[in-house]
Amino acid sequence: MERRQFGGLDCFRPAFMKGRAWIELSGAALENNVRVLRGLLPRGCELMAAVKANAYGHGAVQVSRELNRLGVRAFCVASVSEGVELRKKRIRGEILVLGYTHPEQFHLLRRYRLSQSVIDYAYALELNRWGKKIKAHVAVDTGMHRLGERCENIEAISRIFSLGNLRIEGIYTHLCASDTADPRDKDFTLSQGNAFFEVLDRLKERGVQIPRIHIQASYGLLNYPGLSGDYARMGIALYGMLSTKNDTEKCAVPLEPVLTLKARIMVVKHLYKGEYAGYGLQFTAGNDMKLAVLAIGYADGLPRSLSCGAGSVLIDGRKAPVIGRVCMDQTLVDVSDIPGVEAGQEAVIIGRSGDLEIGAWDIADSAGTISNEILSRLGPRLERYIV
Ligand SMILES: *Cc1c(COP(=O)(O)O)cnc(C)c1O
Repeated sequence: MERRQFGGLDCFRPAFMKGRAWIELSGAALENNVRVLRGLLPRGCELMAAVKANAYGHGAVQVSRELNRLGVRAFCVASVSEGVELRKKRIRGEILVLGYTHPEQFHLLRRYRLSQSVIDYAYALELNRWGKKIKAHVAVDTGMHRLGERCENIEAISRIFSLGNLRIEGIYTHLCASDTADPRDKDFTLSQGNAFFEVLDRLKERGVQIPRIHIQASYGLLNYPGLSGDYARMGIALYGMLSTKNDTEKCAVPLEPVLTLKARIMVVKHLYKGEYAGYGLQFTAGNDMKLAVLAIGYADGLPRSLSCGAGSVLIDGRKAPVIGRVCMDQTLVDVSDIPGVEAGQEAVIIGRSGDLEIGAWDIADSAGTISNEILSRLGPRLERYIV
């Protein structure tokens, strides 16, 4: 019998989609998300795309290129190396490094025209001591107690603005409880906003010229439109979902998932009743059955906690449950109820097939985590392409 990969649509597919496992990025979905999120921003507020962690696993270069094409001119990354990679691939616009950069790497900030977060007062002095001009955004800690100078240290924050080698183009804070409607979280988020605006007022009193301000990430924009600024730093929503299944399903904004994750079926085999499958003899065939071996495993970012029926994949618009333990490079799925499955066909791990959809939020739900983690752990072995 002819294998599927030699017929049908598959013959029009480029060679990369004939690999073991890969990511298809929907340019149309990304464009939709940029449009609907921009629609939520007040006039003058610009979208800053969070493309850290390889654009939440999507592929930072591919996503940023597409965003440049859509007119996005501001990006944030976690590290200087992520910023350098984008510049080397000719991504235009502002690129803000959110995390710590070692003094021995300060030259990279200048060479690649990156903006550095001032993560506290001591770090500002360090940046200034380097002796050459560096573009910077001042991070203010309003209660998350991660990065940023403490908001009550007005004296220190205002001194940062007088350091001659820092070209301060922004000041920002990060909300840490903007994702729920819990009254304590709401009070806390509003207190963070107040603390930040209080810092700005006190700086103004001291004659500091206030640069561009930013507060909101995805949940901040959706749940606290009043906390807008000159930028909104958009991560998970830009990729077409929220962190949990519940939030994603309830989201009133028409976001579309950008990423589809697929893997090739390497082998289809019959198992007789009573035979085992996979490591640790964790699966026993209750009846004669048929399994498919997929070319994707936990090294690609498929959580091992999806083992033994906790997760499923889609093949030909039907669900195929994971059987046995997810391996490093392979996963076994039950295809007994799916007629005509053959080696060479593709399985959808994240995305749509027929009428069914498995979202990153579904996998997150099964694995006891959030979609951000599932996406950002998708590994370097997966090839990524815009379709
Ligand atoms: C990751 C990150 C963002 C984006 O967060 P989302 O919730 O994914 O939109 C924004 N700001 C900072 C400081 C971040 O670290």
